[in-house]
Amino acid sequence: MAGDSTRSVHEAEPFDEETGSIAIPIYETSTFGFSKAERVPKVVAGEPGYVYSRWDNPTVVALEKKLAAMEHGGEGAGFSSGMAAISTSIFTFLKKGAHVLGTRDLYGGTYALIRDILPEIGFSTSLVETTDFGALERGMKKTTSIVYLESPTNPTLKLVDIQKAAKLAHSSGAVLMVDNTFASPINQNPMDLGADVVLHSVTKYINGHADLIAGAVVANKERTHRIKMMRRDFGGTLDPLPAWLILRGMKTMALRVRQQNTNAMVLAELLSTHRKVTAVHYPGLKSHPQHQLAKRQMRGFGGMLSFEVKGTTKDAMTFTESLKVATLAASLGGVETLVSQPYNMTHTQLSAKEREAMGIPENLVRVSVGIEDPEDLVDDFKRALAAV
Ligand code: PLP
Repeated sequence: MAGDSTRSVHEAEPFDEETGSIAIPIYETSTFGFSKAERVPKVVAGEPGYVYSRWDNPTVVALEKKLAAMEHGGEGAGFSSGMAAISTSIFTFLKKGAHVLGTRDLYGGTYALIRDILPEIGFSTSLVETTDFGALERGMKKTTSIVYLESPTNPTLKLVDIQKAAKLAHSSGAVLMVDNTFASPINQNPMDLGADVVLHSVTKYINGHADLIAGAVVANKERTHRIKMMRRDFGGTLDPLPAWLILRGMKTMALRVRQQNTNAMVLAELLSTHRKVTAVHYPGLKSHPQHQLAKRQMRGFGGMLSFEVKGTTKDAMTFTESLKVATLAASLGGVETLVSQPYNMTHTQLSAKEREAMGIPENLVRVSVGIEDPEDLVDDFKRALAAV
């Protein structure tokens, strides 16, 4: 198999013999015409061809092929947001009376879906301590049809052993779904470790330029087909224009992510010896409690880290306001460095007790490290910490 950059440049975008174009066109059309009426029922039944862009569209299909190649999976499905991909996929694998088991450290929208929405409509769910594998084992029931996890997690960079979780899920016929947004396909491929369904907020590292919202799923052919049939009816399909922008963004994904890995390591090392910092969470640090697991299941440690500023929430605010290169903003995975305070920005749907249990104090700062020159980031962080 070709390397990551070769695949992200060439996969699903062959040279067009007719026009010579080396970029795929944007098929910005809602529907597709037929010159032979007899073709209609055949294409509707699944023969190659297109009917309506909520079902399938050639630009979106090219992106789906590239994504499947990057995630070492069978097929992909594009969505209008990460949450559309996650909710549609979860609903695909629910059956009557099903139980959904997940780890507790999940993205807020997914957490709310599993903790609140599914029980409200009659499904039983449980969310267990993320770093205690025994809790996941004890949480399995005969009726568990989905095991759901993120690794590394937001915002404290905890890991889950994906290979062990896959064995556990499969032992009772459940599917393992892994949100791979934080790692990106460059640093980790959950399907190689046994996961059945990989989810992405494409908004983040895959598009990489903080200029659109999108999501994706990769799974084997049969499961992706089921997810795509659900997508037709739930309607969260990706539009061709953002799909084309993502295809463009993906060509530099390996370059971007490798630079982000390097920059994050530089910042993590700086922060871990700084007197105004009381804790640093980064899987690449030897001091990270799951560093050995990170080395086993990740090829790079990623561009996300978080740390506690010595002092109060006010001190953390002084730090974020004093940065000049990095920007205070939600979201992550783009070329620019962003910082946020999860306690009062991205995790406000949790009670103070829940935030405490998940290790999210008021002075925690999450960093999505960009591709800027590392010396500039170091200067910026040093200057902002000096202002605290
Ligand atoms: N999963 C993770 C890990 C996320 O960080 C996010 C968004 O921040 C999502 C899913 C949801 O993705 P989107 O905002 O594209 O719907």
